[in-house]
Amino acid sequence: MKYKRILLKLSGESLMGDKQYGIDNEVVRQYAEDIKAVHDEGLEIAIVIGGGNIFRGLSAEKSGMDRAQADYMGMLATVINSMALQDALEKVGLKTRLLTAIKMEQICEPFIRRRAVRHLEKGRVVIFGAGTGNPYFTTDSAAALRAIEIKADVVLKGTRVDGIYTADPEKDPTATKYSEISFKEVYAKGLNVMDMTAFTLCEENNLPIIVFDMNKTGNFMKIANGDGIGTLVRS
Ligand code: UDP
Repeated sequence: MKYKRILLKLSGESLMGDKQYGIDNEVVRQYAEDIKAVHDEGLEIAIVIGGGNIFRGLSAEKSGMDRAQADYMGMLATVINSMALQDALEKVGLKTRLLTAIKMEQICEPFIRRRAVRHLEKGRVVIFGAGTGNPYFTTDSAAALRAIEIKADVVLKGTRVDGIYTADPEKDPTATKYSEISFKEVYAKGLNVMDMTAFTLCEENNLPIIVFDMNKTGNFMKIANGDGIGTLVRS
């Protein structure tokens, strides 16, 4: 394996599969199998999941809701997704712990950095729920923050596209994919990899990001092996 400890960021939307809302159990089951295969190779895996398939603070604000209130709802949505993934991971035989940035004593542990690291060392898959615990942030920021805190080697951003393109490939058929790009180039070209807060955090802490298509079975293993699929962002 190329890495020892990784942080996998999954968007909430990716859990929808072909649905318009909510969780497609088949997608979650598939993710769990892919994660198990990589974990079996000895990699330490921490995961952050978004909540966009259930609730997004920004969209609710546009419909008139108070932003902070809506963001807290978004954070709760990430916990629902985290619990679905936790269940699927345990069904395939993995040991897991869910740690949340908002205390929910009955269902998970509070986030304590040293504890998270200990779980990883013991071979448990750690899921970080409730984002950063703060409104006005995203789960991309939570992924960057937690990755730095636990000293992960890389953030793997699993999405529905297979990397970073020169333009939106769904709108521009001439768009081509980067196999590697620097943080500076991403800024200069105005490309959208993660939200800027998350992206800057990664850059400042020299944490590489790989964007890849998690919905293709086996891709996660390829990335963990260092096969050059997806797009690598680094200093
Ligand atoms: N959120 C937040 N603070 C955080 C992480 C998430 O307020 O640290 C809220 C925010 O409202 C966001 C929602 O949770 O819209 C869902 O997370 P996100 O949009 O990042 O999910 P994704 O796009 O990955 O599905």
